[in-house]
Amino acid sequence: MHPDGKPFDGHPILDETRAFLGERHQLLINGQWSDGTEGETLESRDPATGLTVARFAVGGAADADRAVAAARNAFEGGWGRTSPKVRAAALRRLAALIESNAELFTQLEIIDNGMPQMIARLTVSNCVEMLDYYAGLAWQIEGSTLAPPTWVADQAEALTYTVREPVGVAAQIIPWNVPMSMAILKLAPALAAGCTVVMKPSEETPLTALLLGRLVCEAGLPDGVVNIVNGLGSKVGARLAAHPNVDKIAFTGSTATGRAIVQAALGNLKKVTLELGGKSPVVVMPDVDMDLAIPGVGMATYFLGGQNCMAGTRIFAHAAIHDQLVEGLAAFSKMLTVGHGLDPASMIGPMVSEIHCGKVMGYIERGLSEGARLVTGGQRLDRPGTFVEPTIFADCTPDMAIVRDEIFGPVMAVMKFDSDDVDTIARLANDSPYGLSGSVWTQDLSTAHRLVSRIRSGHVSINCHGAVGSNVPFGGYGQSGWGREFGTEGLSNYLETKAVTARL
Ligand code: NAD
Repeated sequence: MHPDGKPFDGHPILDETRAFLGERHQLLINGQWSDGTEGETLESRDPATGLTVARFAVGGAADADRAVAAARNAFEGGWGRTSPKVRAAALRRLAALIESNAELFTQLEIIDNGMPQMIARLTVSNCVEMLDYYAGLAWQIEGSTLAPPTWVADQAEALTYTVREPVGVAAQIIPWNVPMSMAILKLAPALAAGCTVVMKPSEETPLTALLLGRLVCEAGLPDGVVNIVNGLGSKVGARLAAHPNVDKIAFTGSTATGRAIVQAALGNLKKVTLELGGKSPVVVMPDVDMDLAIPGVGMATYFLGGQNCMAGTRIFAHAAIHDQLVEGLAAFSKMLTVGHGLDPASMIGPMVSEIHCGKVMGYIERGLSEGARLVTGGQRLDRPGTFVEPTIFADCTPDMAIVRDEIFGPVMAVMKFDSDDVDTIARLANDSPYGLSGSVWTQDLSTAHRLVSRIRSGHVSINCHGAVGSNVPFGGYGQSGWGREFGTEGLSNYLETKAVTARL
């Protein structure tokens, strides 16, 4: 902690925010707030000042068990059989409550995670949209009518159809990088499908999930339909992943934790979806519109201070424009205001924690020692909080750690290429175990689509980066994950298909 840190860096906050931070925060299990059975608490810190802002109860394995039992009762007690009308109305009530608490959510997300307010605001409005989107989809859960198996009876004497049914109890494990958004994009399709939920927020960023828990109660969702158990991954998360009474686990986080979750889920072969890490390529062709590309490529890396699974951090610049691009990106990086998210001018916030900041700085040192050329940045700011300068390395090679590993910080690795052959360029872009996102920057749409068809990623953008939306499926190839969230595929994760044949 920096000795000079001032609460919220001296920026004013709402009375509601101050009151919320000062309250006693517990676990939400079966519609009741309670402490964890082991009576433990953790602190939440404002990463922009290093100061403690709230204290919250954390649970252990016994609390995970209590929450799973509550979710099971709620599922079997009726939520799993509610009509789409009831589920859609509940989602819309929750959306309206979030909308009316938008500023409180925005400030809590900034204070807990550090993100700039422009992004926090966008996050809150996207959450409202996401709930509305899945409220609509609750009405579109449909099966189909099929030709009956011929050996059962004549076609006119039998009927075969499918119905979609909720999977059951879903455990949802959330990371710290966009906490509210991650919580809603898992909660909304689960509730639309008729599942009940045990959510474990990240121990780094519990605050918006706690407020969400209150609004879930206010929205009138039956007890036990949504349970929120804060706690450590090694205790609550690991118990949920291994729990024999959990039917499905949805995880977003690091690839290493994803592997542990798969192992733990083997016991009852629960359904698993994984949204994991990335190291996404950004390919810049010679005919690029430079005025668009410089801020676009810059923010592909720097959005959320690089703490973004979609971050485009491997920049492949064609030799014809390489120097111009690097020069432009360096000027852009120096122009970005780094500061507390409560300051409307801030575009880059702090790293989420001291430990994470140390990890990012370690990669910067590694880039230097491996011979990459530091173009700009590279320093931790000498001020309270965990701020790292937007950093560009050029002359990078594919074997360097800054090119291979997900750094999750504002660190860009630029590589020059001089081929015009799309297969050669795609091979460079695909040289990663990950495959989450990517982008191609060119005015030639034919080249753009040929490259897109060769890039092995779940989400690729042309002349923009990371353009996700409620209805657009999102997920990874390779070691970036299993399955897709968002859109109708996101809903399917929470549904089983039952086939029925009747002899008439
Ligand atoms: P993390 O894997 O450390 O933690 C994620 C969550 O898992 C936390 O809630 C943590 O408590 C829990 N956890 C930790 N160990 C566990 C275990 N053994 N069993 C069950 N749960 C456990 O990840 P993080 O540092 O919070 O988030 C950063 C990572 O998340 C990055 O790798 C990033 O790329 C990834 N991410 C991916 C996406 C995506 O959509 N693909 C989105 C956001 C973040």
